Amino acid sequence: MSNEQLEALREQLDEVNMELLKLVNQRGRIAQEIGQVKSKAGQKRFDPVRERKMLDMIAENNEGPFSTSTLQHLFKQIFQLSLELQEDDNRKALLVSRKKKAEDTIIDLKGEKVGDGSQKMIIGPCSVESYEQVYEVASAMKEQGMRLLRGGAFKPRTSPYDFQGLGLEGLEILRRVADELDMVVISEVMNPQDIEMATEYIDVIQIGARNMQNFDLLRESGASDKPVLLKRGLSATIDEFTKAAEYIIAKGNENIMLCERGIRTYEKATRNTLDISAVPILKQETHLPVLVDVTHSTGRRDLLLPAAKAAFAIGADAVMAEVHPDPAVALSDSAQQMDIPQFNEFVESLRQSGLYKL
Ligand code: PEP
Ligand code: MN
Repeated sequence: MSNEQLEALREQLDEVNMELLKLVNQRGRIAQEIGQVKSKAGQKRFDPVRERKMLDMIAENNEGPFSTSTLQHLFKQIFQLSLELQEDDNRKALLVSRKKKAEDTIIDLKGEKVGDGSQKMIIGPCSVESYEQVYEVASAMKEQGMRLLRGGAFKPRTSPYDFQGLGLEGLEILRRVADELDMVVISEVMNPQDIEMATEYIDVIQIGARNMQNFDLLRESGASDKPVLLKRGLSATIDEFTKAAEYIIAKGNENIMLCERGIRTYEKATRNTLDISAVPILKQETHLPVLVDVTHSTGRRDLLLPAAKAAFAIGADAVMAEVHPDPAVALSDSAQQMDIPQFNEFVESLRQSGLYKL
């Protein structure tokens, strides 16, 4: 074969490659359109009957030289890649995604902005136990210039015999203290039927780790006009966490804060494993503010400061930590709550580190 002949054949191959390239992308675009039509109609993307028909058509029309099974294998690959294209489009379409909304969602809590690039602290006792207890913690917070007060009135406890929270009385205490000191109340709601009642007292609905996939609760809080602080489930992937937030936003409530609070792993040195890289991932993939709960993730008082430094260094919008006037006698999480002098020291050290600017 002369050199010219070889060159000519190569040119033909190049042309065919370019033709194939065009055709494969054309096919991809059609598959994307089909994906959009199916998604609007609520139909599944994968249709095995349709795929079988396409493979049969290839068999019937194959004139060689490639064998039918080889070609079917190749086309199966193309079908699979087209399906993935449709899935990518679907992911892009999530209302919580950055692709849907490029700018950061900023949540205004009575003038305290979360997600605007500032750094916030959400502090308070694990459980509301009494007016005096909450007041003491809230006063210490005020002295540090903090207004985002947390406290559990409905407690999701592992054992039914453990303290379950004060319920409505707890909400009343939180509201009273917050009104006296001009603060914002964040408190967990566990039952979708309690949202209406609870939001008469609280400013932010917290959805706890154990309820991250309580879909009725997610939908109901999505229908509320109060912001929602959604915690990552005990064993939830980032994808599951994001989709839980999607349940809320899909009902019309865009004011959602995502809170990384540690996940279950084989590691026993900490209560949970703080997945610090979830913070930048969630910040990149969604437009929502991202928080880190240093208390429940580490479960260790000695790790609260380094975990909070890491959280701010990696871009968290806020850090949550539990503070109790006398943790030794706290009705829940007594091992990891800080007392007030420890809290002051914690804030001072954070400020000195330069990582927390407030
Ligand atoms: C809490 O913040 O009070 C709490 C119970 O945390 P989690 O849902 O993350 O366990
Ligand atoms: Mn707690």
